[in-house]
Amino acid sequence: MADSNKALQFRDLMYHALESKLCVNPFCTTCGALKFRNKLKNFTNEEIVEGLKILSSDFMHFEESIPCLKICTSLLIASGFEGNLKSLLEGTPVGMVLKEVINYTDEYDY
Ligand SMILES: [Zn+2]
Repeated sequence: MADSNKALQFRDLMYHALESKLCVNPFCTTCGALKFRNKLKNFTNEEIVEGLKILSSDFMHFEESIPCLKICTSLLIASGFEGNLKSLLEGTPVGMVLKEVINYTDEYDY
């Protein structure tokens, strides 16, 4: 079972990153969004998924919400997460934009 406290911490980190204008560009050639990525290292894949589930729709109003989410989903995939994100996030605000997140900046996609 994921620690729900960690899911809340993850959610707070997501808001903090966008509110404080942390670089969340997955393709940043200057910093590689390293500060944000390093903070994500405090969470397991399961905790990240639980955190994504509880992000509310107001999060999507941030200009950088899609690239920020893209870093999270890329990280999950890169670290061998085998769950089905589409079904896990179905019916959640993140689930609604998942296709957009996965396809964000196609030319750089896997
Ligand atoms: Zn950067």
